[in-house]
Amino acid sequence: MTESLQFPHRRFNPLRRQWVLVSPHRTDRPWQGEVNKTSGFSNLHYDPQCYLCPGNTRAGGKVTPQYESVYVFDNDYAALLPDSPEPVRARAPELLLAQRERGRCRVLCFHPDHSLTLARMAVEDIRRVVDAWTEEYRTLGAEPDFRYVQIFENRGAIMGASNPHPHGQIWTTEHVPDEPQAETEALREYRASHGSCLLCDYAGLEAREGLRVVEENAAFLAVVPWWAVWPFETLVIAKRHVRSLLDFNEADRDALAEMLKKLTTRYDNLFETSFPYTMGFHQAPTDGEAHEEWHFHAHFYPPLLRSATVRKYMVGFEMLGMPQRDITPETAAERLKVLPAVHFTQRQ
Ligand SMILES: [Zn+2]
Ligand SMILES: [Zn+2]
Ligand SMILES: [Zn+2]
Repeated sequence: MTESLQFPHRRFNPLRRQWVLVSPHRTDRPWQGEVNKTSGFSNLHYDPQCYLCPGNTRAGGKVTPQYESVYVFDNDYAALLPDSPEPVRARAPELLLAQRERGRCRVLCFHPDHSLTLARMAVEDIRRVVDAWTEEYRTLGAEPDFRYVQIFENRGAIMGASNPHPHGQIWTTEHVPDEPQAETEALREYRASHGSCLLCDYAGLEAREGLRVVEENAAFLAVVPWWAVWPFETLVIAKRHVRSLLDFNEADRDALAEMLKKLTTRYDNLFETSFPYTMGFHQAPTDGEAHEEWHFHAHFYPPLLRSATVRKYMVGFEMLGMPQRDITPETAAERLKVLPAVHFTQRQ
């Protein structure tokens, strides 16, 4: 089986019910594309120009307080507003359909130190971030107008992150967005037809095979999923069937903090750079239903392909046809797994 996977083939993503084209033979093709600048670390613990550093004034005149661990506030330039009106009904609603989308956008500073990242924060400090995510999910999800809470982090200028200060975002929306909605349907249908959970079954299978496992602790398994699109994409799966952060016990929260630290450290060590990514949690919608089918997980979507400066682009066939990758998920997992567990900036 492994040998036949060295030729072009497509793999199915049962969570999203989409295909990805895998072309392992293409990795030796010459590269003459763009060479990006290395995204290094900031040495500044405090940046007077950074609106997320304690004590600084944000656009609009609000002052970021002298916080000491985490700090959460409503985004000054929110993409969603809690009181948007219903749009005027179109004359051809099947072709020109618009719906009201109310919501809120929050910013969560992970730490007052401007120079840190999840990979270089202490596990106890990441645990405080996990607690803050849990409280945001609880309070935003309790508001009847909001049916989904999307927690995420954009890391690195290459991913469009406008500020290197360690922070993430929390957007909540009136409708369940397309990605978690598609996963809800896949999880529900798998449960109905198999009598078990898709991600419980998948995590068990990956743990037994071991081929794509990158990191594992008491409560979480990190794999390069069988269907990964991005070169070093990972999926962090809770080992127990937990629907959301609200089902976590104390040990689970500690384990998530530890997993985030270990996985982001491996990422940074891969090309000895501050590794860019979009990371986020998928969990049960907050629409008042029980969502027994839901299984908490995190997606990491990093763009880098072969160095700190060469990224993957989703263009051409990928925009018009389907996503495509060169190195196999098994090779990507192997490369991440053999890296040292200590961050390259903290080695003796
Ligand atoms: Zn800052
Ligand atoms: Zn499950
Ligand atoms: Zn997901």
